[in-house]
Amino acid sequence: MRRTKIVATIGPATATPSTLRRLLAAGVDVVRLNAAHSDMKTHSNNARLVRELASELGRSVGILVDMPGPKIRTGLVEGDEVELENGQEFVLTTASDDSIGNARHVSTTLPDLAQWACPGDEVYLADGAIVLRILESVGRDVRTEVVRGGTLRSRKGMHLPRAEAHVEPFTTRDALALEMAIAAKVDFLGLSFVRRAEDVERVRAMLPKRGMRPALVPKIETAAAVDNLAGIIEAADAVMVARGDLGIQMPARRVPLLQKEIIRACNMAGKPVITATQMLESMTRSPLPTRAEVNDVANAVLDGTDALMLSEETAVGQFPYETVRMMGEVAESAEDSPHEHLHPAAISAATADRVAWAVAHAAVQAAEDLSVAAILCPTRSGLTAHRVAAFRPRMPIAGISTAPQVLGGLSLVWGVQPLLVPDNSDGDQLRLAIAAARRAGLARDGDLVAVVFGSTGPRAGSTDSVRIVRV
Ligand code: PGA
Ligand code: MN
Repeated sequence: MRRTKIVATIGPATATPSTLRRLLAAGVDVVRLNAAHSDMKTHSNNARLVRELASELGRSVGILVDMPGPKIRTGLVEGDEVELENGQEFVLTTASDDSIGNARHVSTTLPDLAQWACPGDEVYLADGAIVLRILESVGRDVRTEVVRGGTLRSRKGMHLPRAEAHVEPFTTRDALALEMAIAAKVDFLGLSFVRRAEDVERVRAMLPKRGMRPALVPKIETAAAVDNLAGIIEAADAVMVARGDLGIQMPARRVPLLQKEIIRACNMAGKPVITATQMLESMTRSPLPTRAEVNDVANAVLDGTDALMLSEETAVGQFPYETVRMMGEVAESAEDSPHEHLHPAAISAATADRVAWAVAHAAVQAAEDLSVAAILCPTRSGLTAHRVAAFRPRMPIAGISTAPQVLGGLSLVWGVQPLLVPDNSDGDQLRLAIAAARRAGLARDGDLVAVVFGSTGPRAGSTDSVRIVRV
């Protein structure tokens, strides 16, 4: 049984009932709706479709809405594709967002570009493929020289390090995406181009005060976010290593070590982490991945990632189901590695949750000593299962709840199998948990299981009890 979770982005290739059903059946744990593309109506319809199909399949599938954030883009170009040649002049204009560009000029979504442009600075277009050098600002235009040419398509990412510090972190499109995500009761919100912990806290302050609140998943993809990593992780519910933009905002050669550093920091903080972008990129067009991609997926698992993400591979790719299955198989093989896992530092930190962390730790220790069949976590918030998973036990972990939204939140967490139990308030939670584990095939007659939970009545922590039970 695979422990690493798979997040798959849906798009034109996979957003119909039949294709989505196949995609989920191939092993997707979390569906990602990329709000940088498509309209919000499409996303909320897709969210509803995911919920319907998941319940039809009797599975718990999480939904992540990825908020676009302040990504600067260039505008439309003639014929959707123009060639820029080395040495030619090229003009970036802010005069009108919808003017159609060509091989001489293009519009951008950064209205104050001319104000922040400094002669000699570099500008990266097409997600870093094209490099321009700024010559001068003239009115609302910025004249540049093409240093490294290439193909520019419509609405591609543009990167201009000096100007980005001045960009408003929450755009009107983010506000629309947030409204849609809350109405659709999604499980996770991806926060793009976060620079500091306050960017996360600001969004948290915008969430509804009661009821279902999505978990916040800042994406580490700016140089500033790398500098402020510890604070961002503390403010986050989970984190994404967004290697695509990270490798544009700084030399791509730094990304492999940063990936390890970010994953390690998340593991130590007991927060789930997603490794994203280009993991099986060649499978967008080919039924088989490259050796390098297979190694990349396996190495992310060995680094300690909770989840692996697919983007274009499943959104627009020709082999979406094959890609998900391949990712699952590679991850599962890598999980066989006997490498040492770090223990979260959370238990030694002076937090209000120290009791809960210590009990989760004790449960995992006992489970390992006794080689129990499974660790069962009846949980109201999902946190008990989170904490148990953070110690990476060898046996299956069941996150057990009567609330589908709690299980949705666990869909991202390494090793946790979400199990829905009927809402039976007078039922004994121990008995209900064991019955659910039996139905899911996690425990048979005579097996030992560990049950970790928060007891009712006066208690010292949200997770305060462990019982070892013979089924
Ligand atoms: P994106 O984020 O796909 O929304 O750009 C992921 C990344 O940058 O890697
Ligand atoms: Mn990105």
